[in-house]
Amino acid sequence: MPRDRESVAGHYHTPTTLGGVTIRLYDTSARQIRDFTPLTPGCVSIYLCGATVQAAPHIGHIRSGLNFDIMRRWFAYRGYDVTFVRNVTDIDDKIIAKGRDQDRTWWSIGYENERAFNAGYDALGCLPPTYEPRATGHVPEMIEMMRGLIERGHAYEADGSVYFDVRSFPGYLQLSNQDLDDLRQPDEGVSGKRDPRDFAMWKATKPGEPDWETPWGRGRPGWHLECSAMAHKYLGSAFDVHGGGLDLIFPHHENEIAQAKAFGDEFARYWVHNAWVTMSGEKMSKSLGNSVLVSEMVKNWRPIVLRYYLGTPHYRSMIEYSEESLREAEAAFGRIEGFVQRATEKAGRTVPPAAEVPPAFAEAMDDDLGVPHALAIIHTTVRQGNSALGADDKDEAIARLAEVRAMLGVLGLDPLDPRWAEGSGGDEELHGVVDTLVRLVLQQREAARERKDWGTADAIRDQLTQSGLSIEDGPDGPRWTIANR
Ligand SMILES: [Zn+2]
Repeated sequence: MPRDRESVAGHYHTPTTLGGVTIRLYDTSARQIRDFTPLTPGCVSIYLCGATVQAAPHIGHIRSGLNFDIMRRWFAYRGYDVTFVRNVTDIDDKIIAKGRDQDRTWWSIGYENERAFNAGYDALGCLPPTYEPRATGHVPEMIEMMRGLIERGHAYEADGSVYFDVRSFPGYLQLSNQDLDDLRQPDEGVSGKRDPRDFAMWKATKPGEPDWETPWGRGRPGWHLECSAMAHKYLGSAFDVHGGGLDLIFPHHENEIAQAKAFGDEFARYWVHNAWVTMSGEKMSKSLGNSVLVSEMVKNWRPIVLRYYLGTPHYRSMIEYSEESLREAEAAFGRIEGFVQRATEKAGRTVPPAAEVPPAFAEAMDDDLGVPHALAIIHTTVRQGNSALGADDKDEAIARLAEVRAMLGVLGLDPLDPRWAEGSGGDEELHGVVDTLVRLVLQQREAARERKDWGTADAIRDQLTQSGLSIEDGPDGPRWTIANR
């Protein structure tokens, strides 16, 4: 780890490998939880298979980005210097078909949906990746990899396409624990393959499809090659963690491994896969329509609540989507948020997050990113904080608030983080101005009530409601929030 690290990340823990603490991750390849040892001390490199930008994202699409956002935040908290690559698959059969159907260019479909994905990631508080390479920007790197694989006898050209010879790579199907003899043979009816199980790295050009010049004629990338080529370019021949959804294990990740390792790369050292968002037990899909699109969901639910809902179940557990479960998540987050607000009011100032999270929270996170256990620590701390408020113990309440903010911050769920205030109508400064004004108006309503001028009191309340504010009368006086956010 670099020597200046401590001054850069002053409030972070000692990095795991040096401090006797070890992060553990479930490695799909080993089929068990393994201690994480970084390739380079103090650093972690992560490659996550990102979006195929054929349509706007629904919440199931964003879950993967969110799970790995929490992973990188935890590594950063533990003192690691994180390099996070998430690619954009901006060319594939569906994108091309959609362009044809809509009489548009394939790339206009890709760009439009890439923006929708980025808006979705951003709305739910995912930090931008260190690098976000597009497949079509890396054709030279793909050609170089194919040339190397052909030279080493792992790939061959046939009718302008380039195929990977799966029998030439003994480690094929190790990740998904399958046997090549049992593999169902794809009935593509493609001529030129030496074995029906060989997969296309490069597809020969067809009329009306985009294509690029190669030593084997014009054509376009198959899906799998881009990730091996881009991981090599941005993270080198070996890197720490490769991630993606469960559905990518086969064939995508098997094919990535075959290409990269046969090329001579060590490739990923840990394979981490996130589970899906399901509906009636099935993986959420586009056929559900627009109702679960992130752009629609954020109209009805506050983005921070969506993040809580999608980010707090364990990354390896399926989330069976229902409005009821989302409402429960909203109520649970409301209890945390309510404490943060009341304790902040009690403190009379913004209490900064504690420098360190409680040890039990850290242990839960170290253990294969055990967010559900970590969340239980947050709720316990909130209950302790509420008891302190009830007992009028200001110091104790402030101490618990600082802990709660530190823990929420690691999960990207601190309601006092200015990034969430933006979504509710402005930055922290503007919020302060509005707060002063609303309190002034509420004092006038209070005065009207005291002189039993009910008409005026009701009219003030109605006007505040009409301007989009929701007023709640509590034991400590009225509180306002922006309605429906
Ligand atoms: Zn990939």
